[in-house]
Amino acid sequence: MARFRRVETPHTDWCTRDHRCGVNEHRSADIIADAAGGRAIITRVRAADVDYAEIRIRVPLSRSESAAREQLGTALHLCRELLTAVAAIMPSALARRTDRWAIGRQAA
Ligand SMILES: [Zn+2]
Repeated sequence: MARFRRVETPHTDWCTRDHRCGVNEHRSADIIADAAGGRAIITRVRAADVDYAEIRIRVPLSRSESAAREQLGTALHLCRELLTAVAAIMPSALARRTDRWAIGRQAA
């Protein structure tokens, strides 16, 4: 019988240090952005030695099937652009940034 062994990792400076953290996964408080009747929730996660942003988005769709399909296509396109834009940010670029979009946003 196979045995799984997970190595415990310490809490981070940004994780919630509560039930949301696991043995080797640490999670921040949710950061919420509301707009146009929808909601986006971003959670910073460290799983083992990898950090990533978990993003959940609820987007209201039109009752018109054709409009809903157009909205889904637009959402997919923008998700690809988001992934590309975030991946393009390099540590050297962060030092030059003066805008901090997340400051002042609601955290849950
Ligand atoms: Zn933690």
